[in-house]
Amino acid sequence: MNPIYKRVVLKLSGEALAGKKGSGIDTDTIMRIAKEIKEIQKVGVEISIVVGGGNFWRGANSKEMDRTTSDHIGMLGTVMNALALQDGLEKLDVITRVQSAIDMKQIAEPYIRRRAVRHLEKKRVVIFAAGTGNPYFSTDTTAALRAAEIEADVILVGKKGVDGIYDSDPKINSSAKKFENLTYIDILNLGLGVMDSTATSLCMDNKIPLIVFGIDDTGTIIDVINGKKIGTHVKED
Ligand code: UDP
Repeated sequence: MNPIYKRVVLKLSGEALAGKKGSGIDTDTIMRIAKEIKEIQKVGVEISIVVGGGNFWRGANSKEMDRTTSDHIGMLGTVMNALALQDGLEKLDVITRVQSAIDMKQIAEPYIRRRAVRHLEKKRVVIFAAGTGNPYFSTDTTAALRAAEIEADVILVGKKGVDGIYDSDPKINSSAKKFENLTYIDILNLGLGVMDSTATSLCMDNKIPLIVFGIDDTGTIIDVINGKKIGTHVKED
């Protein structure tokens, strides 16, 4: 390995952890991703992970329920994913800490920025759970927020079923075109559905580079960390 980054935030959607099952947690997928994370951690890259929860629940999808309550359920889903990923990493002897944005001290540390940074300096993997702790936000926004707070070099967004950002949904439109490079303002202007506008704006305002790539094939996280040009690279300009 020849990493080009020192400190990264890896964003894994809930779907990415569901593997072929499509929902819930697929332990084979967890172990596959955990093995890759171990390789990256072994060479001294400081790696933190923001996990989504869409494999269990998405707050905005439940029309009948109070939105805040629905988002609380969504955030709890991210905690389940975080614990499953921690379990996978610990099976491989990777020291891992879960920090939750919602206090649940029996099962996870509270999110404390300085402590998270200390863990990273000690080469522990840090998993950020429970999103930002606030309803009406997403885990993409969480990734942008945590990356800014811990001064990460880059946000790596591992996507399931797609290997970058396209001008239209490649699953629906076979002639959809993939972008190699984009700016944040392009994402907003073109209305690309890769991230919500809150997350996009936060990355743009704080000049955090982002790489969107596919996570279905083994080795892609390592490739991106090594600087191999895959996926779509997003920068401020
Ligand atoms: N969520 C929230 N606040 C946050 C992050 C997440 O309320 O700061 C809730 C929201 O309901 C969201 C769900 O948690 O739909 C799961 O997160 P997300 O949809 O971002 O997961 P992903 O699509 O990455 O799997």
